[in-house]
Amino acid sequence: MKWNNQEPEIAVGLLRAPDIQVTLHGSYRLNEELLSGRVTFSLDKEHKGAGGLLSYRAGQKTGETALPLTLVPVNYDQEVVEVHQITIGIDFHWQRKEDQRFRGSLRLVEEGGQLRVINVLKLEDYLVSVISSEMKATASAEFLKAHAIMSRSWLLAQLQKAAEGGNAAGAADQDNNPERHIRWYDREDHALFDVCADDHCQRYQGLTRATEPRVEAAVRETSGQVLLYNDRVCDARFSKCCGGATESFEEVWEPIPHPYLGSWRDGGQGDLPNLRKEEQATAWILGQPEAWCRTSDREVLAQVLNDYDQETQDFFRWEVVLSQQELQRLLKEKIGLELGAIQSLRPLKRGGSGRISELEITGTQGRCVVGKELEIRKALSPSHLYSSAFVVEAQPAGAALPEAFRLRGAGWGHGVGLCQIGAAVMGAAGKDHTRILLHYFRGAALKKLY
Ligand SMILES: [Zn+2]
Ligand SMILES: [Zn+2]
Repeated sequence: MKWNNQEPEIAVGLLRAPDIQVTLHGSYRLNEELLSGRVTFSLDKEHKGAGGLLSYRAGQKTGETALPLTLVPVNYDQEVVEVHQITIGIDFHWQRKEDQRFRGSLRLVEEGGQLRVINVLKLEDYLVSVISSEMKATASAEFLKAHAIMSRSWLLAQLQKAAEGGNAAGAADQDNNPERHIRWYDREDHALFDVCADDHCQRYQGLTRATEPRVEAAVRETSGQVLLYNDRVCDARFSKCCGGATESFEEVWEPIPHPYLGSWRDGGQGDLPNLRKEEQATAWILGQPEAWCRTSDREVLAQVLNDYDQETQDFFRWEVVLSQQELQRLLKEKIGLELGAIQSLRPLKRGGSGRISELEITGTQGRCVVGKELEIRKALSPSHLYSSAFVVEAQPAGAALPEAFRLRGAGWGHGVGLCQIGAAVMGAAGKDHTRILLHYFRGAALKKLY
């Protein structure tokens, strides 16, 4: 995909509703007309399905127009459109509606008999908005810049993949072997726009949330800069804490190696042991290897953790105990697995960070191999286990039918790409953003595309 030295635009899917109310702060072009102020759009039920016909009312003016339609600001930098009654926090207990303001154009298309509102804006403006709601102003400038370049790279890589025919969204093992339950999930592409405004892609609330000047500066100062590998934009992933070693892409998602998303040590002295081997993984996970993300510096942790005071700080090394009863209930509820009383949990396959990608679960009524890492984390916890890099100990030791299983683990998240805690520590230690990025995305190069 060629960027021609030009900043791309991005189309963000907002709400979907039978009719839409907006307030245009300034002048917007709709076909040959200029509109401003409050405008209501309603889908004409008679014409539903055939591309759609839309009626609109703006003050005294009324009209009809074919879909899709685009409202274009006469002056991009000055006009703002407010979209009323957007539902936020879908499926959360605090779900509510609010009005949100956006820069750029609004596109209306028909989707499933309703109107879908799409905001089309400059990519850098979009990045300022999403990174502001994600990053803390207390972070070091170099960490913020590294994050901006990484987010931009991820986004452009998604656009590039979509342009080339789409993303493999996830898969289950092809054979219908009941003794294998291997799943992985990646972001599924959208058909009518590039990204949605929810956590599925990245949470986006337009101009409604105040932008943080230091975060905005980090985006503007790195404008157009991305990570490249073999002249392609890197699919730059990140997670909270690698646990001392990063994981490789293919252990977590589609089995296609991405050389810059490999498994290496997150700082510290000496070579990374071969954590695919059980003995070495056990020593690593039960140990306290030196690493950038091995920190208890409250100031640095608060740069990455959303609700620092309420979240655990024991994620470099952690421990969870599951009772026999709880484990059986979780396996049934989370992944529909009924194996009777559980006799053992045994890692069959680990990635280079020690994360288990295939876990054998044996019960009195059968056995099943579960993977990949996210499915294991889902199956063994009411929410999600911190990571799949763990060591299992039956309690009491050696029991044929354990009363409980003690899991001792390392890291938080999939561990692929940049380790946020490690990168925050590097930034606080005065490392610059280039050094941080090339530490995690080995073999990649930085380039300004536009
Ligand atoms: Zn999405
Ligand atoms: Zn790390």
